[in-house]
Amino acid sequence: MFEALSDKLQRSFKNLRGQGTLTDENINDALREIRVALLESDVNLDVARDIIEHIRAKALGSTVATALSPAEQIVKIVRDELMEVLGKDTARFKFASQPPTVILMAGLQGSGKTTTTGKLAAWLKKGGHRPLLVSVDVYRPAAREQLKVVASTVGVQIYEGKLSETTGTADVLRLAKEAFREARNFANDVLIVDTAGRLGIDQALMDEMAQLKKELNPSEILFVADAMTGQDAVNSAKAFNDLLQITGAVLTKMDGDSRGGAALSIRKITGQPIKFLGTGEKPDAFEPFHPDRIVSRILG
Ligand code: GDP
Repeated sequence: MFEALSDKLQRSFKNLRGQGTLTDENINDALREIRVALLESDVNLDVARDIIEHIRAKALGSTVATALSPAEQIVKIVRDELMEVLGKDTARFKFASQPPTVILMAGLQGSGKTTTTGKLAAWLKKGGHRPLLVSVDVYRPAAREQLKVVASTVGVQIYEGKLSETTGTADVLRLAKEAFREARNFANDVLIVDTAGRLGIDQALMDEMAQLKKELNPSEILFVADAMTGQDAVNSAKAFNDLLQITGAVLTKMDGDSRGGAALSIRKITGQPIKFLGTGEKPDAFEPFHPDRIVSRILG
């Protein structure tokens, strides 16, 4: 385990207690510790650098309140800065004014997209909604089968549809349209579309996502990222956002030992909020994202 950043800062400041001001000299040590803590938490290098510069500017010459030691003062500045990056409030989930609300799930294969689709459906169901699921991964029958199992586990409806002989984007768009019609006809107020997984950024599949977006006009495009993959998650978040303008992200596998720094990077690079966290394999291991919890996790 990492030593908590706040403890480290207490240590590096132990001789400074009683000094009224944070100077360039005495905050340099602190900034080094903060930088290491951010990088250990998987915050992207450029993002960490940017955050450090903001913290430096705020810390320089700031007067230490009598009630706070210099270390506590720095921790407060760091906390405020990280909260500012993440957005202080829990992000809102957007519904369409005219149902069904369409949610497009995006992300790399293995990120937890299908599991998250089920968790989101369970969360919506708990909130009184009637979600309908559809998998448009016409390329992998196993993925469609997995969503079927997920739907039955959480007790929500799924539109299966039939695949045509030729698997391709035309089939994907047809299935999506049929599912939309099904949702509208049977009073499902939310349609969650689980899209084809990809191992890396694949142009053909990205084009397909763009067409799906155009066809379905989704209220939410959620990018699902595995918190354990750190920097890679950030790069793919950027690629998906550049093409699709995501409306938010879900960070999965937060039950692992990742500190979740990817949340900061994804937020800063895409400008979109983290909306939910996945905290386990079970359908209820899912929660709306609270910025202060991640900040505490990073600060220790
Ligand atoms: P997809 O390929 O993106 O659809 O990914 P899956 O939904 O199939 O998930 C890949 C693996 O990650 C599965 O074994 C899931 O059980 C697991 N998984 C998904 N979300 C979480 C999570 O929040 N925590 C943990 N520990 N495992 C998860």
